[in-house]
Amino acid sequence: MDQTATPEAPAIRIRGLRKDYGGIAAVDGIDLDIARGETFALLGPNGAGKSTTIEVLEGYRLRTAGEVSVLGLDPAHGGLDWKSRIGIVLQSASEPGRYTVREQLAHFARFYPNPRDVDEVIASVGLEAKARTRIAKLSGGQRRRVDVALGIIGRPELLFLDEPTTGFDPEARREFWTLVRALKQEGTTILLTTHYLDEAAQLGDRAGVIVGGRLVEVAPIGELGGAEARVPIVRWRDQDGVRHEVRTERPAELVASLRPAQDGAVAPEHGEPEGLEVIRPSLEDIYLGLVGTAGAVALDDEEALA
Ligand code: ATP
Repeated sequence: MDQTATPEAPAIRIRGLRKDYGGIAAVDGIDLDIARGETFALLGPNGAGKSTTIEVLEGYRLRTAGEVSVLGLDPAHGGLDWKSRIGIVLQSASEPGRYTVREQLAHFARFYPNPRDVDEVIASVGLEAKARTRIAKLSGGQRRRVDVALGIIGRPELLFLDEPTTGFDPEARREFWTLVRALKQEGTTILLTTHYLDEAAQLGDRAGVIVGGRLVEVAPIGELGGAEARVPIVRWRDQDGVRHEVRTERPAELVASLRPAQDGAVAPEHGEPEGLEVIRPSLEDIYLGLVGTAGAVALDDEEALA
């Protein structure tokens, strides 16, 4: 059924997606809905199955099993009309070719019914000064910006960004985030994979963590890992040099309680507990916790099967 007519239908609907390579599951039963207008960050370690999932959704890879609907159609049968509604920034950088930045974009713009203005797109990826330079002569990061420009030239409803800012300098990454926010503002649905947790935190409405081909967590970015994973950690060393680490919702109370009269924690010469730190776990800490736990469970499963 074509779901494009129903505004509440998700942009992406995945049920029981599986993709095997040589009998081994790279994607092992994923269920996920991504709403229209949502920015969703797919996170996971190398080889987890992120690119394979995205490539199935883009129509580049045939799935082994499961149901997938992207903008209301099965990507395995998406025609030119469907393709023109989708923007793709693949993980690998484009072939340099012999064209200039402007020529390449103007060429691709012609494939779309309602493309963006070429010069506006060049400006939005910060390549004005290189518009007339051949792509072969650009740096790696600048070529990556051309990839991003090509992904958005067709004014896509849905944009796939597979590790889009790899090779970007910090300033270019910030500019790219501004661009993604502007696209989101226009209503573009965005599926992003990234190894930069700050990027996911900056851009994502929700995130999914995929480990060993399975989605181990899907949640709004601010709730990933659950409330427990966000409980602050207080660390200090006592006067014997022994390290202490306590997770507590009331870190100020705990710090105030670290008095020599109570537990001897204060180094006498400073009057302060040594190495005192109060840490609120970052998204990276939470992510590493999730990936570590999922990896350990997978190992247990394998051992149980052996
Ligand atoms: P990365 O973060 O490194 O990009 P990823 O999460 O995108 O990793 P995938 O590229 O989807 O991971 O790979 C998932 C698994 O599938 C890996 O074990 C990989 O070796 C395997 N794989 C990917 N492409 C192929 C292929 N064409 N043929 C065989 N195996 C493949």
